[in-house]
Amino acid sequence: MANILWLQGGACSGNTMSFLNAEEPSACDLVTDFGMNILWQPSLGVELGDNVKKILKDCISGELKLDIFVFEGTVVNAPDGTGEWNRFAGRPMKEWVRELCDVADFVVALGDCATWGGIPATAPNPTDSEGLQFLKRDNGGFLGADFKAKAGLPVINIPGCPAHPDWVTQILVAIATGRAGDLALDEFQRPKTFFQSFTQTGCTRNMHFAYKVSTTEFAQRKGCLFYDLGCRGPMTHSPCNRILWNRVSSKTRAGMPCLGCTEPEFPFFDLAPGTVFKTQTVMGVPKDLPAGVDKKGYIKLTGAAKVAMPKWAEEDIFVV
Ligand code: SF4
Ligand code: SF4
Repeated sequence: MANILWLQGGACSGNTMSFLNAEEPSACDLVTDFGMNILWQPSLGVELGDNVKKILKDCISGELKLDIFVFEGTVVNAPDGTGEWNRFAGRPMKEWVRELCDVADFVVALGDCATWGGIPATAPNPTDSEGLQFLKRDNGGFLGADFKAKAGLPVINIPGCPAHPDWVTQILVAIATGRAGDLALDEFQRPKTFFQSFTQTGCTRNMHFAYKVSTTEFAQRKGCLFYDLGCRGPMTHSPCNRILWNRVSSKTRAGMPCLGCTEPEFPFFDLAPGTVFKTQTVMGVPKDLPAGVDKKGYIKLTGAAKVAMPKWAEEDIFVV
């Protein structure tokens, strides 16, 4: 039996909503099939007021064993480092977070806000928000770069805006069934099993990417969204076209560019007007190129692609 406690800081609840839609396994499966005991969760917990406080205090004192602490949302430090803008159960949330992280066997940061700050930490960051162990690309965050939970792992980061529900439930199952040691983490502490491949891996538009045929409007069924609409699929680490959303689709399959939400810089270009859904270019070459491709290589590749393009590449091949 693994005890899980889940709290929310500066967040929109999107990751909780996503979690409640999990299918493989579902949130119910965690309890019925994998023996997890959800001590409290913002949308599932029935306790209120002093009763919630008691659960938190019992975890901190050791009365209740805290196996997994899940945190969703940013750590809010405003105003002036006090955290008073995000109070919970009688004190600043950041004080609970610090003490709970110290007693938990495993700490999981869920969603971009908890991993590296996400949208709340975008400049000018009025809430003085940060992630548990990162602020954007910088290792450190609220807990500091050296933090390790009691079982020896740093914060396990499951990013996304929101994270796909099955990424969450599958990692929780791995931890709760004693397989945390099998989790290989990348440089941003993301489980490699989900975040080694790219959004582009498995995208149905790959052939159009290869021949440099562009999608020019949302939901167009032909073309690739990289060249005009700012798709970040070739440089974003996610399994969004391998583990489909609602089991049926993904952003790019539906004709919407990947915004790179699993990367620490998200939202890119600090949401400056004209930077979302628009490929940013310098002299006609995208500012951000597919991972591992340099400018010279890109120019050669796309030049050859255009010459080689077969006629069918400009037609809608997904006939209903
Ligand atoms: S739509 Fe995006 S993910 Fe799909 S092939 Fe084009 S760039 Fe890659
Ligand atoms: S397709 Fe891109 S923006 Fe959408 S959820 Fe996946 S990584 Fe995030």
